[in-house]
Amino acid sequence: MYIENLVEIRDFPIFSDNKLVYLDSASTAQKPREVINGIKNVYESSNANVHRALYKLGSQSTEMFESARASIAQFINAASSKEIIFTSGTTESINLLAYTLGTQLEKNDEILISQMEHHANLVPWQLLAKRSEAKLKYLPLTKSGELDLSQPEKYFTQKTKIVSITHMSNVLGTINPIAKISKITKSIGAIFIVDGAQSVSHLPVNVQELGCDFLAFSGHKMLGPTGIGILWGNLEILESLPPFMAGGEMIETVSMESSTWNKVPYKFEAGTPNFVQAIGLGIAVEYLTNIGMKEVQDHEKKLTHYALSRLEKISGLYIHGTPEKRGGVISFNLNKIHPQDLAQFLNEDNICIRVGHHCAQPLLKMLGETSTARISFYVYNDSSDIDKLCKSIESTKKYF
Ligand code: PMP
Repeated sequence: MYIENLVEIRDFPIFSDNKLVYLDSASTAQKPREVINGIKNVYESSNANVHRALYKLGSQSTEMFESARASIAQFINAASSKEIIFTSGTTESINLLAYTLGTQLEKNDEILISQMEHHANLVPWQLLAKRSEAKLKYLPLTKSGELDLSQPEKYFTQKTKIVSITHMSNVLGTINPIAKISKITKSIGAIFIVDGAQSVSHLPVNVQELGCDFLAFSGHKMLGPTGIGILWGNLEILESLPPFMAGGEMIETVSMESSTWNKVPYKFEAGTPNFVQAIGLGIAVEYLTNIGMKEVQDHEKKLTHYALSRLEKISGLYIHGTPEKRGGVISFNLNKIHPQDLAQFLNEDNICIRVGHHCAQPLLKMLGETSTARISFYVYNDSSDIDKLCKSIESTKKYF
């Protein structure tokens, strides 16, 4: 069976030598020529600071920057592009929320996350809980690696003020029932944040259907540049929050005694924004829109199904998690072979996989591992990548 990739592989310069097998897109995605050239073009022909320069170049770059914001708003079906805040990535988006929402938290309030969170959606809440003397609670997981929602009353209480859950696990690939969690969260009047680092890049995401209050994601995982990410938020809540970082552009007036704030989203974009990367992200979003996110999801489903069927046949290989709804991320361990050794052997065959704790140490502890091997797919992968991976795993096994 051959599953073809979804793109012209020529679009991606990194694959030009035809040898690279890249199975680490959950970590960061490769970039199409459109994005690379788009960034180059800004620097070469329209580079000027945005929202400041009163000359032609400045209005060009401002228009491109704001048009990227509008494309991103449309991509996730936000009600308005005012709800799109440019950050440096998911990590900054969640820290922004932990800081600003944190100012409203009181002693003994509760923050609810889950045992499958990436450290980016865990450590900021740990710090906030310490600062505000709130309690950090964890939704447990079932054996199959899904959120255990069988006892909601135990975790979603009148004291719960913030719920922050990943849409898709970066270790197990589990896709969580966000709309369902949204309903439970709304019933107790808490704020609901979704970590979309692994989902926005791989499946259709519609914030109005999800029903959450905030969604955080990263540009570099969705064919876009590094250093740029998004915080989408409900406009009314965003307007009620205090600023995060302070400096230029986020103010309306400044006197020696005090300041007033610019409108949302600019209130949360202090300093010169990463506008070239934001424009690059806008191009990546257009590229993904042209492919179609449903097509991206279906492609990865096929690859995942194929990979699972091939990996399951390798003796001594153990796959973590059997979630019913899953995306293109698979974690596994191999008897007696440390993931690090495996990665080194695969590297000899030009195969890139991720090994380690995947910034999810509490989850790894639950799995009884300190390190796993992880493969993940994207639009440029085809089934021959999986064939090469399996062949290389078999030859590694022979060596040990
Ligand atoms: N959450 C999840 C689920 C992730 O997979 C990642 C990246 N591995 C992050 C958050 C953090 O993203 P970034 O490093 O781009 O800020």
